[in-house]
Amino acid sequence: MTRTNTTDCSSHTNDSNNIKKLKRGFAYKLFYQQGVWPQNASLNDYYLAVSYTVRDRMQQMFLNSILSLQKKESKIVGYLSAEFLMGPHLHNNLINLGLYDQVSRAVEECGLDIKQIIDHEEEPGLGNGGLGRLAACYLDSLASLQIPAIGYGIRYEFGMFDQEIKNGWQKELGDRWLQPGNPWEFKKADLTVEVGARGHTEQYTDDHGNQRVRWVPGGMVKGIPYDTPVLGYRVNNVNLLRLWSAEAPKSFDFDDFNVGDYQGAVHEKIMAETITKVLYPNDEHFRGKELRLFQQYFFVSCSMQDMVRIHLFMFPNLDNFPDKFAVQLNDTHPAIAVPEFMRLLIDVHHYSWERAWDIVTHTFAYTNHTLLPEALEKWPVAMLGRVLPRHLEIIYEINSRFLDLVRIKYPGDVDVVRRMSIIDESGERYVRMAHLACIGGYAINGVAELHTRLLKNHTLTDFHRLWPDKLTNVTNGVTPRRWMVLSNPRLARLISSAIGDGWITNLYKLRELEPMVDDPVFCEKWQQVKFDNKQDICAMFSCAYGPMFNPYAMFDVQVKRIHEYKRQHLNLLHIVNLYQRLKNNPNLDVPPRIFIFGGKAAPGYTMAKLIIKLINSIAEVVNSDPDVNTRLQVLFIPNFNVQIGHMVYPMADLSEQISLAGKEASGTGNMKFSMNGALTIGTLDGANVEIREEVAPENFFLFGMDVNEVQELGTAGYDPQTIYNQNEGLKAAINLIATGHFSHGDRELFRPLIDSLLYHDPYMVLADYQSYVDCQQKVGEVFQDTRRWTKMAILNAARMGKFSSDRSIADYCRKIWKIKPFPVELKLQQLPENGFKFPQRDKIVRT
Ligand SMILES: *Cc1c(COP(=O)(O)O)cnc(C)c1O
Repeated sequence: MTRTNTTDCSSHTNDSNNIKKLKRGFAYKLFYQQGVWPQNASLNDYYLAVSYTVRDRMQQMFLNSILSLQKKESKIVGYLSAEFLMGPHLHNNLINLGLYDQVSRAVEECGLDIKQIIDHEEEPGLGNGGLGRLAACYLDSLASLQIPAIGYGIRYEFGMFDQEIKNGWQKELGDRWLQPGNPWEFKKADLTVEVGARGHTEQYTDDHGNQRVRWVPGGMVKGIPYDTPVLGYRVNNVNLLRLWSAEAPKSFDFDDFNVGDYQGAVHEKIMAETITKVLYPNDEHFRGKELRLFQQYFFVSCSMQDMVRIHLFMFPNLDNFPDKFAVQLNDTHPAIAVPEFMRLLIDVHHYSWERAWDIVTHTFAYTNHTLLPEALEKWPVAMLGRVLPRHLEIIYEINSRFLDLVRIKYPGDVDVVRRMSIIDESGERYVRMAHLACIGGYAINGVAELHTRLLKNHTLTDFHRLWPDKLTNVTNGVTPRRWMVLSNPRLARLISSAIGDGWITNLYKLRELEPMVDDPVFCEKWQQVKFDNKQDICAMFSCAYGPMFNPYAMFDVQVKRIHEYKRQHLNLLHIVNLYQRLKNNPNLDVPPRIFIFGGKAAPGYTMAKLIIKLINSIAEVVNSDPDVNTRLQVLFIPNFNVQIGHMVYPMADLSEQISLAGKEASGTGNMKFSMNGALTIGTLDGANVEIREEVAPENFFLFGMDVNEVQELGTAGYDPQTIYNQNEGLKAAINLIATGHFSHGDRELFRPLIDSLLYHDPYMVLADYQSYVDCQQKVGEVFQDTRRWTKMAILNAARMGKFSSDRSIADYCRKIWKIKPFPVELKLQQLPENGFKFPQRDKIVRT
C-alpha cells in the first residue's frame, strides 16, 4: 500500500541510476521546456527544470488519485477557503516524495546547490496569516492521512503584499508571484464554469406547470480552474488544490468591435479579470467591499458547480450528495455557498425547497475563527441584493423559515428572534454571514477548547441553546513535515537518531524523548542544534546590521500579524523598561537578549503601522547604544511569510504569545515554536491553554489576567491612568516614548499609540504589564540555568503530539465529516511505445 521509501531502501546502483535519470531530466526540461542550453540558463531556468522534473515523478500518483476520486465508495472533503498560504512547493514535495537526497545529489553533480534552487522559489502567498496557513497544513495532513480531498480557493494574481521597511515604516509592494512561472499548476481550461452577477430574478411556469424562479444575471464571468497536486508524506494519495481564476466570457466581442465599441469590449474583459486580481490584506478585520463579496461568491459558485459536476458523473441525481461530499467552510468567507447550493438545487436541478434544504444542511460544516466583533462579516442587505439578487431572496426565505422555528421553540420571546435573525436590523440592515453558516450546516466548530467554550457561552450562545449537539471543538494543529522536517533539519535528524522517524507521521511518539532530558550528551546536542540555528540567522542579518548578533543571547521572538489584540506593544513596553534598567544599572544581572519581531500590518491599519515604526525606532536607539547593545538588541525581520517562518521558528528560545485573554481564537505560531524547542511566555488564551496543559505548568511561563478577570475588569471599568500613575517603571517607559527619545525628540509621532494605551485601550495592555515584566524576570533567571532551560525545551517539544494537524484532521474526520482513510493503490500505467489510440466514448469522465 505504502510506497517504498526510495531514500532508505534502494540499493546504491539504483540510486546512481536514478540520479543519472534526474540529471537527464533537468537537461531535457532546460532544453525542451525552457528553451535554453545549460550554458545560458538562469537560476530561474534551473529552478523550473528541477521542479518540472520532480513534478513528472508525481504524475503517476496524481492521475491515479484523481481516478480514485471517481470511485463511488470514497467520500471527498471539499475544503472551501478564501486563503491557502501554501509556502514554497519544491522542498516540501521533495520531502514528501522521499526524493530530497537524490535530487540534492543530482543538482550538486550539475554544479549547483539545492538550497539555492529551493530558495529561488517565489512562495505563493495566497493568504494573510494563521487562517490561510491552517488551510495549507490541513491539505498536507489530509493527503498524508489518505483522506480524499479537494481544496477550493482563489488563484489571486497578486497574493499577500511584500513588506519593505523604509525609515522604519512599512511599505507595501505588489506580489508578482506568477511572473517567474509556476511549475506546480495545471490549467484545466475544459473544466471552465460560468458565474453570474447582478441582474434580476423572474418567475415563470415550466413545461410541467410548476412555478419556478430564474436568475437573469446582468453579466457573466468565466471561472478557470488551476490544479496543484498536494502530496501526502510517503503515501500514494495525492490530493488536489483547485484554485479559480476569473476571465471574461469572450476576450474580444466581435459585436462590440463591429459597432466600434472596442474600448467597451476591452473594458469588460478588464473588469472580469479584476475579480481574482488581488488578495484583500486585512486579517481579523472586515471591510465591506463589494468586489470582495463578489470574489467570495465567484470562487464558491465555481466550486459548488464543480462538485455537482463530479457528483453527477457517478450518480443519477444529487439526492445523495452529502454521502459523497463533506464541504467545510473555512470561516464565513465561503458562507454564500449555502444559498448558492440552494439555488443550484432549486432553480437549476428543480428540487423542492424542503428536499434542497435537507441536502444543503447535510453538506456544510462551518469553522468559526474569531471572537473579535470587528472581524465578523456582515454585508449590507442593499449591496448583497444588488450583486446577488437571487441569493438575497433565498436568504430571506431561509431566515423566515428559521425564525418560525425559533418562535415555536421560544414563544413570545421577541428578543431571541432579533438576536438570531440572519438579518441585523439594529440600524442599516446587514446579512450576518456567521448566522447563515450556523443555520445552513450540520456542524459548527471552534478552533481551541477555550475558543469553543466562549462561542458556546457568548458569541453563538443562542445557537448552542437551540442545537446543543451542533457546536464542537477541533483544536488547530500544524504539520510537522513542513514545520519540523523541512524547516529544522538539524533537530529532525537529532530526534530521528534518538527515537527513529515514526514521529513524523505520529507526533505523539515525541514523548519517547522525555527520558532523554537526563542524558547530558543528548542535552548538549539539543543545545548545539539551537545554537547552529541561531547562528544561521545571525549570519543572515550580519550584513544588513552593523553589530553582529550574538548567538549566545536569548532569542526572544514575536512573529505574527501586527495587531493591537496580539499586543506587540506590550512586548515593547518591557523592552523599554529593560533598556532603562540597563542604563541605570550596568551591573544588572540579566542574560543578553535579542528581541526579534516580524509581521505585516494591514495597509489601512494606522495603529499597527505605527507599532512597526516604534519597533524600528526602538531598535535604532538601542542597537546603537554601546551602554546596552551587548546585552539588548532589537531586530525587525521584514516581510514575514512562510519562507521566513522556516528560519524563525527553529531559532527561537522564547515564544511570545501575549494576546489579551479571550481574543486569540487559537494561534498556530505558538505550536510551531514549541515543537522546535522554544519555551512560551503567554497568557491563558487560545491554544496556549492546551499547550500549557500538555507541557505541564512548570514548563510554561504564564502571566496576565484570565478570561474571567478580563471580563470582571471590563465590567468594573478598566482605568489605565491609575495603573500608569501607580507604577513607576511603567510610567518611566511610557514617558520615554512620549517625550521623543525614540523619535529624535518628536513628541507627536507616537502620541496616538500612547493615547490609546492611556485612554481607550480595548486590549488592556497596562493591566497585564507588571505581571508580564515579573514573568520576563523569571524567564531571564531560568535562561541562565542552561541545563534547566534545555530540559524544559526538550519536554515542550516532546509533548507537542496533540498539536500535529494530523490529530486535527483525524478529529474532523471522526467528529464532523464521518470519513475514513481511502488509501490509493499505485497502479503504474506504462506509457505506450507506439502512441495512444484515442478511445471512442460518449462522454469524457474526469475529475
Ligand atoms: C503560523 C503562521 C502565522 C500564524 O501565527 P500566529 O502566531 O498564530 O498568529 C502567520 N503567518 C505565517 C507566515 C505563519 O506561518
